[in-house]
Amino acid sequence: MRAPAAVLFDLWGTLVPAIPPSERDAVSREMAVDLGVDGTAFAAAYRDSYRERFLGVTGSLEETVRALAEACGGAPTVAAVTAAAARRLDLTRRLLESDDPTLAVLDGLLDAGLPLALVSDSSVETPSLWPESPLSERIWVTAFSCLLGVRKPDPAVYLHAARELDVGPTDCLFVGDGDGRELSGAADLGMQVVRLRVPGDDPSARYDDDRSFTGPTITALNDLLKMPWLRRAK
Ligand SMILES: [Mg+2]
Repeated sequence: MRAPAAVLFDLWGTLVPAIPPSERDAVSREMAVDLGVDGTAFAAAYRDSYRERFLGVTGSLEETVRALAEACGGAPTVAAVTAAAARRLDLTRRLLESDDPTLAVLDGLLDAGLPLALVSDSSVETPSLWPESPLSERIWVTAFSCLLGVRKPDPAVYLHAARELDVGPTDCLFVGDGDGRELSGAADLGMQVVRLRVPGDDPSARYDDDRSFTGPTITALNDLLKMPWLRRAK
C-alpha cells in the first residue's frame, strides 16, 4: 500500500455504529404515535425513503416527517411533527457521540500529518447535528450526500472531499464498512480502499452492501494506526 496524503471516512458503520434496523424501526414507531399513523406502515415508509432522504430531495426533517405521515394517511399538527422530528434528532445525536477509541484513531492519523474527510450518505438531520459531534473537531472536510444531491458510489461525492482537501483521488485512502457500494466507488476513482468489518458485524444494518469488494479488510479502526505507511506519512 502506498502512503496516502489524506484519509476519507464513511460515517455510519465506520466512525459511528450503523443504526440497527430494529432500533431505527422502534424510533419510527414512536414517531408514528406522535403523528397518529400506523406504526408498521410509517416505519416501512421511513425505511423505504432512504434514497430520497440521502439525496436531500425530501426537504427539511420536518417536511420529510410530514410527507411520510401524510403518505400513511395522517394529517399531523405542527406540534406532532415537531415532536416526531425530535425523536429522530435524539437518535442521530446519540449515534454521533462517537467513542474514545475512535477519536484516538483520528487523533493518531492527524498526528501523522494526514488530513481527514467525511464522505457520508446521510439525511438532513446529520449535517445539522454534525457540529455538536466530537468527530467534527477532527474532521474538517465533509461531503454529505443530502447537501450535495449525490450519494455513493457517485464519483462527485468523493471528489468533493478530495477537492476540499486539495489532494488528488489517487492520494486518498477511503475507509468504510461497504454500505452503498462505497468501496468500489472509491476504488474506481483510483483511491486506495480499506474495508472495516468488525467482529459481530450485522450485514442487515447496511442498505446496499458492497459484496463484490475483495480488497484489504481491517477488523478494528485502530488497525489503521498499525499500517506500515503511517510512519512515512509525515
Ligand atoms: Mg457505512
